[in-house]
Amino acid sequence: MKLIIATGNLHKIREYKAILKQLFPTLDIYTLRDFPTYEAPPEDGISFEDNAKIKALSAAKELKCLVLADDSGLVIPALKGEPGVRSARYAGEQATDQDNRNKILSNLKDLPEKERVGYYECAICIADETGILKSVRGFCEGFLLCEEKGGNGFGYDPLFIKYDYNKTFSQLDESIKNRISHRRKALDKLLPLFESKLALHEA
Ligand code: IMP
Repeated sequence: MKLIIATGNLHKIREYKAILKQLFPTLDIYTLRDFPTYEAPPEDGISFEDNAKIKALSAAKELKCLVLADDSGLVIPALKGEPGVRSARYAGEQATDQDNRNKILSNLKDLPEKERVGYYECAICIADETGILKSVRGFCEGFLLCEEKGGNGFGYDPLFIKYDYNKTFSQLDESIKNRISHRRKALDKLLPLFESKLALHEA
């Protein structure tokens, strides 16, 4: 069964492929990198869920296929929910992950330690040509360091320590992040949908 992951972000592609290939080895996975002429819509929703729906509906309609779209980011309540849906563009439209982390670091330094907490949220929407099939969310709570640690992962991972672990997501092995992340928790909620779709497809 063919599934298009509606992202061109290589870090997300790597994580989705690692998790989905382990759960569903027969899934035929493509990404927006396989459809270079497709133009993704503007992400102008006010929630991660809105944006995931916008991305999924547009790609499913245009590419006429089963699509998984996600929108994700880091939420810090003491910073009024920032960077939130603007996680990828926190320090500006062309910001790099390093620019975004620098901005977070400068905003975090004035917060008392107990307020340096936050969570990753991942909204996933599954759609096909008929419309939205399912929309789910996964969360991963933790606290933020005032210095970067580790070399794995992407985005805010060098700053984010998930509760119960004494390491940042960047210090943890990828396989561990992929078992406990917001992305994985959202994907787990989609297991029944994928299992039933695959069973129909392979019958
Ligand atoms: P999106 O591509 O619009 O969903 O933006 C996702 C942004 O949120 C990324 O560019 C990162 O800044 C942040 N983000 C989402 N998930 C993660 C993660 O697992 N680790 C680190 N940063 C993440």
